[in-house]
Amino acid sequence: MPRQAYVNGRYRPHGDAAVHIEDRGYQFADGVYEVVPVYNGILVDEDLHLDRLDRSLRELRIEAPMSRASMKLVARELMRRNRLSNGFLYMQVTRGVAPRDHKFPKNATPSLVMTTRQMKPHSAAMLNNGLKVITVPDERWARCDIKSVSLLPNILGKQAAVDAGADDAWQVDREGQVTEGTSNNAWIVTEGNQVVTRNANNAILNGITRITLLELIKAEGYELVERSFSVEEAKAAREAFLTSSTSFVLPITQIDDQPVGNGHPGILTGKLRQHYLDYMQSLGKTA
Ligand code: PMP
Repeated sequence: MPRQAYVNGRYRPHGDAAVHIEDRGYQFADGVYEVVPVYNGILVDEDLHLDRLDRSLRELRIEAPMSRASMKLVARELMRRNRLSNGFLYMQVTRGVAPRDHKFPKNATPSLVMTTRQMKPHSAAMLNNGLKVITVPDERWARCDIKSVSLLPNILGKQAAVDAGADDAWQVDREGQVTEGTSNNAWIVTEGNQVVTRNANNAILNGITRITLLELIKAEGYELVERSFSVEEAKAAREAFLTSSTSFVLPITQIDDQPVGNGHPGILTGKLRQHYLDYMQSLGKTA
């Protein structure tokens, strides 16, 4: 069976799955999304992702397309049809289809789309060499805490990185402080072995991987502080890494033209990646 997608109540072949041309997601980026990692057949931190989806919808005053229980059923049915065991589930909710007009439509039904994608394990090269990031001005709006499908600055940042032969771009606010990557949260480890990541407010998306890793770091007793850090501090840091639902924890070994630490993936970064993998592995196993 070819890969399927869920679109507004129907399971369709992925290649033919479509929404209407006047869907407000298409015309206005008037919608939100989630990417949930699937590890050994399990939706990792599913409820945290659905909580964040609810919050994004509430902030934009878009109705939930269905109950949480129904969302979970659709997700599982799609994973079953697509035999997904490792990869991710993508969910997108928009304000629905209506004649183009900026104000909220009166009677639109929210559109819900779900897709899945398989993912290969991260390559040894990526893990052994680490990633390169460049820094770019953060040109986004003031509500980066909402997981909106409006991602133009993120796309431009990522493409600037690719054009520069790098893997991603860290976005930098007007004060010279790093906000986050184009699709991940930014972290450093200081000379004193303190793990630092920006505090979650409207300037960043509060990553679910970030939230879970914070808990693991606390549980393991590592020193941790949630605060912003400058590009200079990052370049002088002992280690740097990023987190996201598709990257988990990945080392960063170069920022702009400067190697981070000794230029090799950090030791603590490696440990944190392992803690996160162990955490995912432990899900679904009964205690
Ligand atoms: N920041 C941004 C801008 C993102 O797009 C993402 C990935 N969706 C993240 C952070 C990481 O979030 P998560 O850990 O929930 O994937």
